[in-house]
Amino acid sequence: MGTTFESWGRHPTVEPSTVVDLAWTQDLNLRGVQAPVLAYGKGRSYGDVCLNAQGTIVSMDRCTRIREFDRERGIITAEAGLSIQELLRVIVPHGWFVPVTPGTKYVTLGGAVANDVHGKNHHRVGTFGCHVTAFTLVRTDGTVMDCSPQHHAEMFAATIGGLGLTGIIATVTLQLIPIASRMIDEESIKSRSLRETIDLTISSDEDWDYTVSWIDVLASGAKLGKGLVLRGNFSAVADGTLRAPWKEPLLKIPLEGPSWLLSKPTIALFNTVWYGKQFASMHRRHIDLEPFFYPLDAVDRWNLLYGKRGMLQYQCVVPLEGGEDAMRRILSTMQGGGISSFLAVLKMFGNVASPGMMSFPRPGLTLTLDMPIGGKRMFDALDRCDAIVHEMGGRIYPAKDARVQGSMFRAMYAQELAAFQPYIDPGMSSSFWRRVTQE
Ligand SMILES: Cc1cc2nc3c(=O)[nH]c(=O)nc-3n(C[C@H](O)[C@H](O)[C@H](O)COP(=O)(O)OP(=O)(O)OC[C@H]3O[C@@H](n4cnc5c(N)ncnc54)[C@H](O)[C@@H]3O)c2cc1C
Repeated sequence: MGTTFESWGRHPTVEPSTVVDLAWTQDLNLRGVQAPVLAYGKGRSYGDVCLNAQGTIVSMDRCTRIREFDRERGIITAEAGLSIQELLRVIVPHGWFVPVTPGTKYVTLGGAVANDVHGKNHHRVGTFGCHVTAFTLVRTDGTVMDCSPQHHAEMFAATIGGLGLTGIIATVTLQLIPIASRMIDEESIKSRSLRETIDLTISSDEDWDYTVSWIDVLASGAKLGKGLVLRGNFSAVADGTLRAPWKEPLLKIPLEGPSWLLSKPTIALFNTVWYGKQFASMHRRHIDLEPFFYPLDAVDRWNLLYGKRGMLQYQCVVPLEGGEDAMRRILSTMQGGGISSFLAVLKMFGNVASPGMMSFPRPGLTLTLDMPIGGKRMFDALDRCDAIVHEMGGRIYPAKDARVQGSMFRAMYAQELAAFQPYIDPGMSSSFWRRVTQE
């Protein structure tokens, strides 16, 4: 009692009524546990998808054991509380890497399945769920289900991207990808407009496994959408780096920042320095996988810089057709709503379909923005952005959300919800789920 739980955005913070600190996934028995129940990984979701006000939270933090690792074929089975950080320390020295990784390595396998996370290589290999070959699911009535594309195939599909609502994932089996080196050959190219950013993304996706663009959200008019297009491939040269030591974060943020720290002027200054730091139109680097995949992890607890009120992240996807215009309207709506963003990322999702029923990614352009929590003007602007996204046939990402209106969410996911609902465990729920289905 009295334990506060928060997600990465630190909004909202809620108190569950009970916390189960699970030690062994074999001990997982949810009969008699006060409903509704929800698993909590590392809380790296931004909103309330990992929160359960007045319910039971099952913390997966101690369930980090590797059950099996086939070093020849790159197939690993581990408890769902194992983080990507912990996994990499085991697999990279043997020449394997995770097939899909989000922009932080502090996420658990269970969290990666439940949100069916995507990475910079979505255009090549799809989502995390595309590489999960099996998992074990424990339901609140005590049923244990070994799920795979062959066994309990529908429950398998419902759980991938199922927001933790179909049961607790105890173990995950994952097919890894081979690497010869830890090093990445990276190119960073300046783009002068949204059109150029999108064109460069499309052409880069042909030859590069990993692509992403950082957008200068303060640029407007003809320069709207300008930024840096980053692309990279693992080096194919076996250079002996696989056993190199891992680095600890360079800096740890010990306290909440003051409210002015990430306000409009400081964000403007950051954007000017960030986009101005590259003078040449193209820059090449040969860099380690950590700064390439996880630049933000270099600063531990950087979310505290947003201060007491916390932050929101907005992520949407819209189809490519009409996508440029939609992005222009969304960026302009945000600027009109006084929203300034420290981090804005544009990426193209490819055509590899996810096995997940409720998975967020679909082919098209996805835009992600962080913002300090503001007042009504900001929330109204985000509602207008939702309307643009919905009008285009797009949707927002539940893993990042703390504010979408229930009716809008249900409209965006109408078809998926109808297919998904029968698989929800009646003893499970989340603060997010109650917000979007009951309001
Ligand atoms: C800096 C940063 C960068 C990010 N970049 C990306 C990105 O590039 N792409 C992307 O897709 N996401 C990204 N994210 C979001 C993050 O990857 C997801 O929110 C991820 O799901 C968080 O994992 P977690 O282990 O912290 O899970 P939590 O946030 O704790 O939980 C997420 C969901 O998973 C469920 N869950 C957790 N464990 C289990 C389990 N064992 N069984 C059943 N359900 C479970 C929870 O109930 C909840 O619904 C980023 C987040 C941060 C902070």
